[in-house]
Amino acid sequence: MCAAVAARRGLRVVLIDHAVRRAEKIRISGGGRCNFTNLEGGRIERYFGEQSGFVRPALRAYPPDRFIALVRAHDIGFHEKHKGQLFCDDSSEQIIDMLGAECARGEVTEMRPCELRALSLASSPGKARFLLDTSEGKVSASHVAVATGGLSIPKIGATDLGYRLARQFGHRVVEPRPALVPLTFDAAAWADFVPLAGVALPVGIQSGGSPVFEDDLLFTHRGLSGPAVLQASSFWRSGTSLAVDLLNGLDAAHWLFAERQRAGQRPLGSALADRLPRRLASAWVERAGGPDLVRRRLAELGNRQIEQIAAQLRSWQILPGGTEGFRKAEVTSGGVATEEIDPRSMQSRRVAGLYFIGEVLDVTGWLGGYNFQWAWASAFVAADSMGR
Ligand SMILES: Cc1cc2nc3c(=O)[nH]c(=O)nc-3n(C[C@H](O)[C@H](O)[C@H](O)COP(=O)(O)OP(=O)(O)OC[C@H]3O[C@@H](n4cnc5c(N)ncnc54)[C@H](O)[C@@H]3O)c2cc1C
Repeated sequence: MCAAVAARRGLRVVLIDHAVRRAEKIRISGGGRCNFTNLEGGRIERYFGEQSGFVRPALRAYPPDRFIALVRAHDIGFHEKHKGQLFCDDSSEQIIDMLGAECARGEVTEMRPCELRALSLASSPGKARFLLDTSEGKVSASHVAVATGGLSIPKIGATDLGYRLARQFGHRVVEPRPALVPLTFDAAAWADFVPLAGVALPVGIQSGGSPVFEDDLLFTHRGLSGPAVLQASSFWRSGTSLAVDLLNGLDAAHWLFAERQRAGQRPLGSALADRLPRRLASAWVERAGGPDLVRRRLAELGNRQIEQIAAQLRSWQILPGGTEGFRKAEVTSGGVATEEIDPRSMQSRRVAGLYFIGEVLDVTGWLGGYNFQWAWASAFVAADSMGR
């Protein structure tokens, strides 16, 4: 994106990547259909990092509408799936081809696969401030944009190069952590739920001071996944618990009192199975109160007991042991600290001509197209600044 826009501004651009194939993350994104932006992608509270307002100027300069216009101009069909999330109708390859075509139009030179061995400042800074020593030869440049992403999915080429370059030029790096990642549990503590692998349900979930995320939760063999859990994982810290509203906003006490009145002879387990997947209803009640409680008729439950059960359903406390790590994380939170990056251009305040864009920065978006929106917007303002 940055290469294409810079080339359109009349610059000679070289795009260096060590991967054999172009834009692997786009290829695998959104289940192969690339959730390329979100209609609400301009809302700054959907992004987090040490400096919450950092994203504002770039998102203002390049809001989702502008990327949507580009997608339309390339005749790529798309649809809104859920909560403003825009996906290609056919394939994420279309977004890769679109960016490839934009680069070709600007005559961007691609060096790929190509290793960057060293980036240094030219000894007599003139027009070419930087010297790049690569496996394909030497390159000199007036501007360098570091767009090396985070540490997620090392098997398709993620490395810490961007963080190393940042440190080399005196920038601080906020500790990178896996985000939008499935949560895992201690095997013994999770044993009751292992048979539920594959069960999914809509929930509300909150981690610490995070917003409540209302979306699907999925049981896996090792723990929990699904969009609600991925969202909450970005805010989770080791040793803390998460609260899950299994009935997703339903007033559980009110419903159980009404159900006791209407059909007092029903066992609790069977009543709960109206609202939860049956296997989860039994496993959850058994864990909360033993097999007896599953069979107990609603009429046998006192008001206090119903209130207690309702409170636990509204706020099921779970204590993850860890995450599936960078191997499975969709993004990396943390990264190059934004305090010494100009938010209007992504240019380093320490080294003129050096830019950091996309996920390598300490900016992380919610699930749902926000991380690509950040990549496009930060790339755009950087290229625009280089052009000027
Ligand atoms: C499975 C999966 C699905 C996703 N789905 C979505 C989605 O649908 N919507 C969304 O908004 N976000 C999604 N994301 C997140 C999104 O892909 C990233 O936030 C986005 O790609 C970041 O863009 P970037 O350009 O900063 O970095 P990247 O896309 O990661 O690109 C970094 C590039 O740098 C290259 N590189 C790295 N190290 C070196 C090195 N040492 N030398 C040379 N080159 C190097 C890499 O090869 C790569 O091409 C998904 C992520 C994953 C893993």
